[in-house]
Amino acid sequence: MMEPSHLGLVLALDSQNAGDVECNSFKHGSIWVMRITVLGCSGSVSGPNSPASGYLIQADDTPPLVLDLGGGVLGALQRYIDPGDATLLLSHLHADHCLDIPGLLVWRRYHPNPPKGRAIAYGPTDTALRIGAASSEIGGHIDDISDVLDVRVWEDGESVQFGGVQVHPRRVYHPPESYGFRMTGPDGQVLAVSGDTGVCDAVLDLADGADVFLCEASWTHAPDRPVGVHLSGTEAGMLARKASVGTLLLTHIPPWTSRDEVLAEAKAEFDGPVFAVSPDDAFEIARTPTRENPVSSA
Ligand SMILES: [Zn+2]
Ligand SMILES: [Zn+2]
Repeated sequence: MMEPSHLGLVLALDSQNAGDVECNSFKHGSIWVMRITVLGCSGSVSGPNSPASGYLIQADDTPPLVLDLGGGVLGALQRYIDPGDATLLLSHLHADHCLDIPGLLVWRRYHPNPPKGRAIAYGPTDTALRIGAASSEIGGHIDDISDVLDVRVWEDGESVQFGGVQVHPRRVYHPPESYGFRMTGPDGQVLAVSGDTGVCDAVLDLADGADVFLCEASWTHAPDRPVGVHLSGTEAGMLARKASVGTLLLTHIPPWTSRDEVLAEAKAEFDGPVFAVSPDDAFEIARTPTRENPVSSA
């Protein structure tokens, strides 16, 4: 059963003021903070009120991490950081997760004060080819993006350290090469991210005991839904319950899916805090106290 105090450990910042958040130092008292800001959360396509998928993860002594860069996310990102400072983490190469990257290439190449050096970009095997094709100005040509991006490839189960944040990628159950992540922050706090996936053991492993679980919920639990592509609200809630996460954040709800129905489905399965995220929501990830491992309030 969830303790009521879990809710207080996740701070949903006022979205009107989210752009004013002080981002230089994240140490609050004796706790090193990790924060996720929603840049875009519309599932599968951009929506009337949200870009497609994109999230900003910030922590002390850590470069700004941008998880996915779907349509419209580059614009939203400019409200928070200089896009030239971003390190990219790509879950997979469906268009709704990566097609603002050609815009980032333009930013890095042609901005009057261009960023120095290359940005690190982790993604699936074909990242350089796929983004190079999208960025090319000639059909059949691949733009060589190595002048501005240092593209690196995820290895299933091999963690990568970005400053104070360790990112552990796992292959998940989605048509192309796709990854979910377990991100461990400077204070040991854990943010699990499903990526786009159907129900699979890997996403359950990623979420195991996580303080916050950002989980896709692309459709309702209709009997005719496809297998191995996305999760229903019921499945997202079931995963959160089985993994005993602290807080469940639902995302990747497409414009054609009822947000209220998906949220109700998840709440019927998981009795901890559940939110359906919106653009500019920001959540601080803090270690969840348990009876066995209480966190001091000192
Ligand atoms: Zn998607
Ligand atoms: Zn996808």
